[in-house]
Amino acid sequence: MKTCTKCAETKPLVEFRVDRQRPDGRGTWCKPCVSANTRRRFAEYRAETGERYQDRTYPLGECEDCGAPIRVRPDRKTMRCRRCAARMAGEVSGRRKKAIAATPEAQQQRRARKALDRARRRAAEIEGEDFDPLEIFERDGGR
Ligand SMILES: [Zn+2]
Ligand SMILES: [Zn+2]
Repeated sequence: MKTCTKCAETKPLVEFRVDRQRPDGRGTWCKPCVSANTRRRFAEYRAETGERYQDRTYPLGECEDCGAPIRVRPDRKTMRCRRCAARMAGEVSGRRKKAIAATPEAQQQRRARKALDRARRRAAEIEGEDFDPLEIFERDGGR
């Protein structure tokens, strides 16, 4: 058991966050006190600046695409606002889909699908006999 220095309640050790700096390996505030304090600091910072708390550490810059003011993370190469970044991500995945559609395997699959369709139509055209489309498909060599 350990007594929280914030709310003065005595709680089991698991109610305290791990803190290896301290002799007992746990923080001095209980988990609810720590998260309440973090929430309060976030709310104060937001009310004061209109920004998210974590943004404080990043220098102000402009979005490369639309010029909107953004906080620039030093570990990011591109500087885009959230909206432009989302749009870019959409365009990239569109390009990826096209690239996948252009692979020999995908083209082969498309050709096979079309050949099977044609075989089905041919089978439907032949009257009076019960043709299996797959049989025609194979007879025609997959064309
Ligand atoms: Zn507490
Ligand atoms: Zn933008």
